[in-house]
Amino acid sequence: MKLRPMPRAMGTQSNKAIEDSVDERTEILVIGGGHAGLCAAISAREAGRSVLLLDAASESMRGGNSRHTRNLRAMHTEPTATLTDRYDEEEYWQDILRVTNGQTNEELTRLVIRESFELLHWLSSRGVRFQPSLRGTLSLDRTNAFFLSGGCALVNALYRYAMQIGVVMHYEKEIAHIELSGTSFRWAETKTGETFHADAAVLACGGFQANTDWMVEAWGDAALNFLIRGTPLNRGYVLRDLMQQDVLTIGDPRQCHAVAIDARAPKFDGGIVSRLDSVPFGIVVNREAKRFYDEGEDFWPKRYAIWGRLVAAQPEQIAYSIIDHKVQDLFMPSVYPAITADSIPELATKLDIDPQALSDTISQFNAATDQGTCDHTVLDGRRTTGLLPDKTNWAQTLDRGPYHAYPLRPGITFTYLGLKVDQQARVQMNETTFAPNLYAAGEIMAGNILGEGYCAGTGMTVGGVFGRIAGTSAAAGLQT
Ligand SMILES: Cc1cc2nc3c(=O)[nH]c(=O)nc-3n(C[C@H](O)[C@H](O)[C@H](O)COP(=O)(O)OP(=O)(O)OC[C@H]3O[C@@H](n4cnc5c(N)ncnc54)[C@H](O)[C@@H]3O)c2cc1C
Repeated sequence: MKLRPMPRAMGTQSNKAIEDSVDERTEILVIGGGHAGLCAAISAREAGRSVLLLDAASESMRGGNSRHTRNLRAMHTEPTATLTDRYDEEEYWQDILRVTNGQTNEELTRLVIRESFELLHWLSSRGVRFQPSLRGTLSLDRTNAFFLSGGCALVNALYRYAMQIGVVMHYEKEIAHIELSGTSFRWAETKTGETFHADAAVLACGGFQANTDWMVEAWGDAALNFLIRGTPLNRGYVLRDLMQQDVLTIGDPRQCHAVAIDARAPKFDGGIVSRLDSVPFGIVVNREAKRFYDEGEDFWPKRYAIWGRLVAAQPEQIAYSIIDHKVQDLFMPSVYPAITADSIPELATKLDIDPQALSDTISQFNAATDQGTCDHTVLDGRRTTGLLPDKTNWAQTLDRGPYHAYPLRPGITFTYLGLKVDQQARVQMNETTFAPNLYAAGEIMAGNILGEGYCAGTGMTVGGVFGRIAGTSAAAGLQT
């Protein structure tokens, strides 16, 4: 097959001009232009195929959830320019096994782990830049490589490279239907009825967390109070359409990555700056001013991903992280200022919770806590006694005003229910058959790796590794 000539100044072309420049049949259609879709499109194009990438977003909002990211988790057996020490396959596997409680496919997960090291090189040689390893409170310098200038820079670098090698992109194309013939892909259709034919397709269009109706179906009305940390466009239309055509899925619709974020964040796309790291430094109460979980159970990077679910289980899905003045500089601040008051009753009034109930909760907490200071760099064992629940590390009295509070809501990062795939990223259509020309990568198949729980940086690793595999497999699967 003859490669498409390098497009001229594609970055400044309108969609119409790009469409006019498509003078050959699309061999591979990639649906979704986040990290996974870009890795797939580039891999298929580098294998000599004509590739059309469609995304529901406008050009200025492209990049899905991948825009919001900061790092990916990669194995390595010796220090590198971006990672310290070593983090080998077995340790990575044990980490995934532990957080998922065994709800993972070992074969596929080990594949992701083994390919994660090579992914760093692959991305680097296509324009993505990483920063030197970060030491500090996140404790990720050994395991996670950070993108220089964040996920937006990664996405832009991959778009630039993809355009240079001749991947064609159409924005504002939201696919709602995949036409199948038996177990084969035929064409994709937008909500408005526009069709895109190709010899093979890669589905990389995210989870369904931004689809409020579907979230309510899974969670009940509680989901109306969830905030979605990323793109409003990952609505799961393609996943739903395939489910309606009896294609196999894996995972539970309620399983997802959910953290506690500032309740003042927007419904969608608040990104990383609305995350709150204040929980271990004080107490967390619900709408009734009652504590409901051990705020000092473990280091925050190991616990932040359970707090979305904990808040989701509280009345009206709201909670409040409350600290006193002496700890206010010890954690990364949220983008929103704390709600502050000189006394606890005044703070409660500002939060619209019962002042007496909050005063009682804090008095009981203080009475169950020894005087003295905490060491937040270790699990210091400074605990309360006799409370339900106790705080088992970093318990110190809340007694120095002014007092500060942050309202918390469940912040959903991405859902895990997805398409079942094999090692070539082929979609499993039924108990016995894999599609010959339909592949999936990224959030839409992350449930194969993550049945529950989360290890920071795994989302981008799954997307990158399976994106590459899907693009390569799709290219290799064509006859000529
Ligand atoms: C705030 C935040 C921070 C995060 N930080 C990290 C991190 O540091 N490290 C990490 O590993 N993971 C992180 N994640 C998770 C990570 O973003 C995802 O795991 C990863 O980006 C998934 O890539 P993807 O390509 O599958 O999805 P996305 O990047 O979301 O791309 C999906 C694309 O599909 C498009 N789309 C959706 N539906 C359709 C449709 N019907 N038709 C056409 N196009 C469609 C969307 O517009 C979007 O562009 C973070 C997520 C969020 C929200």
